[in-house]
Amino acid sequence: MSIADDLKASVRAIPDYPKPGIIFRDITTLLGNAWAFRRAVDELVQPWAGSKIDKVAGMEARGFILGGAVAHQVSAGFVPIRKKGKLPHTTVRIAYSLEYGIDEMEMHIDAVKPGERVILIDDLIATGGTAEGAVKLLRQIGAEVVAACFVVDLPELGGAAKLRAMNVPVRTLMEFD
Ligand code: IMP
Repeated sequence: MSIADDLKASVRAIPDYPKPGIIFRDITTLLGNAWAFRRAVDELVQPWAGSKIDKVAGMEARGFILGGAVAHQVSAGFVPIRKKGKLPHTTVRIAYSLEYGIDEMEMHIDAVKPGERVILIDDLIATGGTAEGAVKLLRQIGAEVVAACFVVDLPELGGAAKLRAMNVPVRTLMEFD
């Protein structure tokens, strides 16, 4: 098996979760595998090795785990993007679409300064609603979104294409149907 196949094999499939007919891609098995975790973090930001990145923004909750490691890797600060009501200081907030309905996410108003170069990280992109909201939030406070990086892409759901249409370079490490 190639390295890419080994990495893909470290993601566990959970049938019928959270509801019948859905296959949940569980990256906790990748995170729990020392080789796979390191490899995923290295690969996610490989195109930006050596470029100046000011902040890595991670989306609650699995984006925090990957984003923290990526921030360390590229010597950047880390910014949490959270569901509404969880951050203690003044925030900026945006509504974003979920599969069923909408929710709101927020970040601290001073977490990124205008013009700072930010990489967005999450474990998986599906419809892209979550990442689209995060990109809009970051741009709202003047960030330059250098890229959005995800371990898993579900291309049939169109999220990566949606982000590219917003002029956001997208990097993903593996695809599932
Ligand atoms: P989207 O907004 O439709 O792109 O959904 C992506 C968000 O839902 C991310 O924050 C993911 O963590 C989460 N998500 C959706 N499906 C899965 C899955 O199969 N495994 C892990 N996370 C998922």
